[in-house]
Amino acid sequence: MTTPEPLRVAVIGAGPAGIYAADALTRQSREEVAVDIVDRLPTPYGLVRYGVAPDHLKIKGVARSLREVLERPGVRFVGGVEFGRHLTREGLARAYHAVVFATGASVDRRMGVPGEDLPGSVAATDFVNWYCGHPDSEVESFLLDSEEVAVVGAGNVALDVVRILAKSADELHRTDVPQPMLDVLAASKIRRIALLARRGPLQAKFTAPELRDLGRLDNAEVRVRPEQVDVDPNGSAVLGAARAARTNLKILSEWAARPARDLPRSIELRFWARPVAVLGGERTAGLQVEETELDGEGRLRGTGAFDTVEAGMVFRSIGYAGIPLPGVPFDEDTRTVPHSEGRVLGTDGGVRPGDYVAGWVKRGATGVIGTNKSDAAATVRSLLDDAGELRAAAPSGGLEPVEDVLRGSGAEVAYYGDWLSIDAAEAELGAALGRGERVKLRSWSDMYGAIGR
Ligand code: NAP
Repeated sequence: MTTPEPLRVAVIGAGPAGIYAADALTRQSREEVAVDIVDRLPTPYGLVRYGVAPDHLKIKGVARSLREVLERPGVRFVGGVEFGRHLTREGLARAYHAVVFATGASVDRRMGVPGEDLPGSVAATDFVNWYCGHPDSEVESFLLDSEEVAVVGAGNVALDVVRILAKSADELHRTDVPQPMLDVLAASKIRRIALLARRGPLQAKFTAPELRDLGRLDNAEVRVRPEQVDVDPNGSAVLGAARAARTNLKILSEWAARPARDLPRSIELRFWARPVAVLGGERTAGLQVEETELDGEGRLRGTGAFDTVEAGMVFRSIGYAGIPLPGVPFDEDTRTVPHSEGRVLGTDGGVRPGDYVAGWVKRGATGVIGTNKSDAAATVRSLLDDAGELRAAAPSGGLEPVEDVLRGSGAEVAYYGDWLSIDAAEAELGAALGRGERVKLRSWSDMYGAIGR
């Protein structure tokens, strides 16, 4: 009796969702599975590496458990390969029985207000990529030469952006921020940061540990307008709110009551202000906001009262959106791939055999890293249920190694061992600069240089 060939699966995207999909695929005994995790970067971990704030070392520690999956028999990391550029859906069908798309949500949402494209009005996603040392970022993209800046949005990414802008160079010294970016942050002229939330403290999307971090900075004072947190504790707004929202209100109320400290920077958390226009001539000079309130049904409405927030830079941090993948259905409204239990649906609403989806590109940019674990496991259950049909649909001559498919594509494939070379070079750089566990290599050439190419 011959043992059947393993079920060959390509996971596109080596972020948490992709790696958790590989984990679920190889931690079961129903099917023998061989997984290639394909990524356009020569480095794994996606947003854990290029999204989680560099000072959130505990969250970054998730990489250790993800690493264990990459080192598991049956799992390969195939970096330096971009879906749509080096590899098409047709090419993947020559090498794999199934594909799990886990490409995340990598672009910013737009405010849709006049002046949004003025120089100095920027996407938080670009700033996050920049301080995380994403190789597509340029050092010169951010100068931080204004005393006043505004951050729009009341989510955890906005908190990350505010915290990184507010911290001193000393506070960031032991992070992995690339040295040229750290030099820009150290020379920052920023003194006042306004975080603008279009709804109230009870509607903010912050999670409590992330919000609390803001109150513990050495270099910046947090200010909250007392009247904005003066909410009746026995009123329906508070009693009807989720526990997390009530915790946020408690933290904000403590800050509103705290005596002001004299620190080099200040952060004002301002609620009930929605962006109306980015103001300025040649570059951003301010943000016009309209004050807001909730109507009787809890819907947001403007009060007709306007105000101007002075700001030489405006960071919009109002959520991430997925980008369409060539040849894969995409819902422009939700910015996700349509699916049923992780099986990709075609434009006719029918299942596209062999195509699956996991993570943010499946459900939108919500939840914490761990949310992707159950999300990916659900997709993998569907995939394993389909194993018989997937095997039956394979090319009659058998599957080819992906390396054959990639021949002539121009891809500079980086395997797990190559990533370990980059990893070691970053650790060496961290030690040489006397900084921390690692300092990131920030360009494609530096990374491929560390691999010896
Ligand atoms: P988010 O949590 O969805 O927050 C987006 C914010 O933008 C909301 O406050 C939203 O307000 C506001 N907004 C949306 N459209 C707006 C507009 N046109 N004008 C003004 N404000 C607008 O998104 P995120 O901060 O990008 O985070 C994405 C996910 O990553 C979240 O699940 C987050 O928790 C997670 N994350 C976690 C961590 C961590 O755990 N440390 C760190 C970073 C990110 P409304 O509520 O009124 O729509």
